[in-house]
Amino acid sequence: MSDFVVHKGRLTAGTFARHYGADVIEVHYKHEERTEVMLADGRAGVGTCLGCGSATCMEKQDSELRLFGELDAFPGDPSRDVCPTRAIRWDGKNLVAFVEVADCIGCGLCISRCPYGAINLANGMNATIETTDPDGLAVEGSTKGEHPKVKRSGQIAMLNAPAAANLPVTIGGLEDARTTLLVRNLLNEVGLNARTRRRGDTNMRIDAVGFSRSGRPFVAEIETGAEALDSPRALLEDVAVLHSRYGYAVDEIDPVSIVLSLPNSRSEYYQVIRDIEKVLRLRCRTITIGALIALLWNCVKLEGFDGDVFTVGEGKVDLAVWLGLNGVALDEPYPGAFKPAK
Ligand code: SF4
Ligand code: SF4
Repeated sequence: MSDFVVHKGRLTAGTFARHYGADVIEVHYKHEERTEVMLADGRAGVGTCLGCGSATCMEKQDSELRLFGELDAFPGDPSRDVCPTRAIRWDGKNLVAFVEVADCIGCGLCISRCPYGAINLANGMNATIETTDPDGLAVEGSTKGEHPKVKRSGQIAMLNAPAAANLPVTIGGLEDARTTLLVRNLLNEVGLNARTRRRGDTNMRIDAVGFSRSGRPFVAEIETGAEALDSPRALLEDVAVLHSRYGYAVDEIDPVSIVLSLPNSRSEYYQVIRDIEKVLRLRCRTITIGALIALLWNCVKLEGFDGDVFTVGEGKVDLAVWLGLNGVALDEPYPGAFKPAK
């Protein structure tokens, strides 16, 4: 069950306060502008909140929390919240969603989930839910319907937007459970079947599990402070647990550190990763929250953690290049998001 269902009881799932009168086929993000939608009947224009009762901008469906195979038994966080700070809410009077600006960290998750192009990060700071309809796309009157599967393109925001630069501060101010929720939802929205652990479960210490798109499982440790240095050691324990309790062969598992910033290039972190690979033949991967946000903002899916990508054993890496973001990601969102500091 969701720990924060704010809109239920106002509109039921599948009900819309307004509708476009035709399916959306594409949502196109334009940084510093409103999001555009293209409709199946050839009309196009900027999106507006239709007050959809299942509000995918706020809430995940139960089916989205499932994991493939044996790993579905992993004790996952049951929260269906999309927003890591609970900033997106429901205006029951006007039947639209709204954002409590003071609470929004501008991660873009809600933007990437609205199938109607109603949300943008045009100010580079926080999400805005549009309720006006200057192109006259919406038809007044409630209706029922299912969310269309839409193509998403464009760029939610430039990587030098203040929301990206502020991530070390804003994420640093989150409770652990909200940081973990942010990471789970980012992994999901960039295309991975993944789950983070249920808080308070003392029998399980793995922070996250999931699958690359090839079907290969991964275990992850999420560290946003100096503890990143300890995560390769914790990952060894995680691999052992995944092997002994869920039956995956050790050489089939990819261990991943999900960190806020890549450790300094002279850090012991890279030496430990090299030692682990040399002695145990396990290749620890590293990705940053900034890189996950860069993928989300640029509508780029992540294949997963198999292969050479994210193996930063030499302490020399540019995640932007590995992610195929060169040319788009001209700036690091914040120091250490793509490259280790010298
Ligand atoms: S912002 Fe989008 S997903 Fe959220 S309630 Fe409005 S139309 Fe639905
Ligand atoms: S941009 Fe992120 S923090 Fe802001 S309302 Fe949307 S999901 Fe919440």
